[in-house]
Amino acid sequence: MALALDESRDWYLVDCGEGTQQRLLIKSPQQIESPQRTKNRYTLSNLAGIFITHVHGDHIFGLPGLITSASMQGRRAPLTICAPEGVESFVRHSLKCAAVRNMPFELNFIRSDQSGFHFQDKNFKVTSHELSHRVPSYAYRFAEKPVIQSMDQDKLEALGVPRGALWGALQNGNSVTSPDGRVIHPRDVRQPPRSGRVAIIGGDNDQPDLLIDAMKGVDVLVHEATFTEPVLKKVGPQYMHSTARMVGEAAEKGGVSHIILTHISGRYRKHASDFASSVEALRSEAQSVFSGQIELAEDFACWALDRERKLTRME
Ligand SMILES: [Zn+2]
Repeated sequence: MALALDESRDWYLVDCGEGTQQRLLIKSPQQIESPQRTKNRYTLSNLAGIFITHVHGDHIFGLPGLITSASMQGRRAPLTICAPEGVESFVRHSLKCAAVRNMPFELNFIRSDQSGFHFQDKNFKVTSHELSHRVPSYAYRFAEKPVIQSMDQDKLEALGVPRGALWGALQNGNSVTSPDGRVIHPRDVRQPPRSGRVAIIGGDNDQPDLLIDAMKGVDVLVHEATFTEPVLKKVGPQYMHSTARMVGEAAEKGGVSHIILTHISGRYRKHASDFASSVEALRSEAQSVFSGQIELAEDFACWALDRERKLTRME
């Protein structure tokens, strides 16, 4: 799953199953239709970090191939991979076994299963949150850095700062002296920073309640909903996955306004003859306990969360 901000070319990858790098090469239908948009941001050189939720193969088997392709495509910048124990040795062993030598960039592994883990760059602050699965599994909470606002024109006028060079100097972060001799600092006239958008992207988990504290201030929760309740009753709890209802209940308690259900079992189809086997059964089960907006993940689906916190599927 990929996460990106409009303002930046950087993007972040959460989990890397087999086939991830092939998916990155496939142009989406809208790119094919409008060639001016063919400039794909999701290149391996724009990749700013990888976050792995747990060591199961469907979440990590794409890593060695993706890393090798990045080096063949000329990446030189170090690549940060935040992951629980086991992922670094899997990657390093795979590369060694394949006789990959002289990698042109460094792999910077950070253990996300250790207390106090956090990742920070110019776009996001990321923390990890422990989940419940057959192996140690984590969710990542991506908090966008607060947005620095433009200057408050009413304040500037009230303080008697004339338009022109002085406004420009303040905008550039310099203090100025107004015509009546007062020193005015940029912080005096800047609008308060707008809080950033926040999303949690979870790994496999059978206790979504574990995320309730982390859900504070979260706009979008991306969480697995492998089964519906009737199917979980049939297959039993041993796989340690969530139902749509469990996710809906936790998100309602946590005060999240949007959820995207993912990791949906292959037994549910988009076009099924009976409702119980359709992906819509998951939506309706979650919606029966959740008052916010529910979306269903599928390959190449893409959503935008605007600054007014409206979540829209991109066509
Ligand atoms: Zn798993």
